[in-house]
Amino acid sequence: MRSYNLIAPAKINLYLEIIGDRADGYHELAMIMQTIDLADQIYLQPLSIDTFRVHCNHPQVPTDKSNLAYRAAELMAAQFPDAFSNFGGIDITIKKHIPVAAGLAGGSTNAAAVLVGIDLMWNLGLTQSELAELAASLGSDVPFCIAGGSAIATGRGEQLSPLPNLDHLHIVLAKYRSLEVSTGWAYNTYRQQFGDTYLRDTDSLTARANAVHSGEMVKAILAKDPTAIAQKLHNDLEKVVLPTYPQVLELRELFARQPGVLGTMMSGSGPSVFAIVESPQQATIVKQQIREAIPDQDLELFITRTISHGIKIAP
Ligand code: ATP
Repeated sequence: MRSYNLIAPAKINLYLEIIGDRADGYHELAMIMQTIDLADQIYLQPLSIDTFRVHCNHPQVPTDKSNLAYRAAELMAAQFPDAFSNFGGIDITIKKHIPVAAGLAGGSTNAAAVLVGIDLMWNLGLTQSELAELAASLGSDVPFCIAGGSAIATGRGEQLSPLPNLDHLHIVLAKYRSLEVSTGWAYNTYRQQFGDTYLRDTDSLTARANAVHSGEMVKAILAKDPTAIAQKLHNDLEKVVLPTYPQVLELRELFARQPGVLGTMMSGSGPSVFAIVESPQQATIVKQQIREAIPDQDLELFITRTISHGIKIAP
């Protein structure tokens, strides 16, 4: 069994709408997800014993069974017991570059990389839809992370419709290192505050989720128009995260005031905030301006861009 070195990119949400409550207790969502070139590296090596081990260079990432990458490996062992006993365990080394608990799907993309990697290591030859089904059982964002690029995600976030590649958007991304937002908290708080506006019957949920396919953001993406995309950015979770975390609100407002910023938004459940800018030169200037306004080293700043792939073998 050979080793694999995989690239696991982060995602941002260009659009996130909470539509209502599904019969299974999950939220019905309409999202537009996009991978960016900020990525973790996942190194998978054969182990001579029948177990999985996780190593990670980031102190906030657990290396026990609660790590989503570990759970992905366990799922593969449970689904393919013959391959597991034939090939044995795997050492999983995660080199973290994606900020943790940031709304960037860091854990989900690590899990997606482990599914793709084990499929290769054990010569399983799984199809994209078989991989996506396994991924959905680990978390709503995991299926998107496999193929990445640009996609509409509905249902719990696991029903995907790919959109044309959008690999020309320049992004500045910011996250306070010490600030974490729990995704569960954000959705529960949203339900408490806005639950009375929720749709609940299946037909209305489906109709509203389908409406995103012909919505303004999709039109802007099809037109590959960065200005229109930036103007249509939307995230319902800002309504609960921004009032609770004034630092995030301040960051969002600071981005919005910078010349060259076409639009800004919190990603997922936050607290990372991103801005779409006109050019790589503008990205450098905006990053400098934010750093001058907030010299606090707790604030991490990244220049990144949208990409057209998800999990990929490292060159
Ligand atoms: P999402 O956008 O999918 O909601 P997120 O980017 O907000 O995810 P993660 O970076 O996935 O959040 O981290 C959420 C929590 O999951 C962290 O507090 C961390 O302890 C735990 N975790 C488990 N496995 C991982 C992993 N492989 N990488 C990062 N965090 C992990």
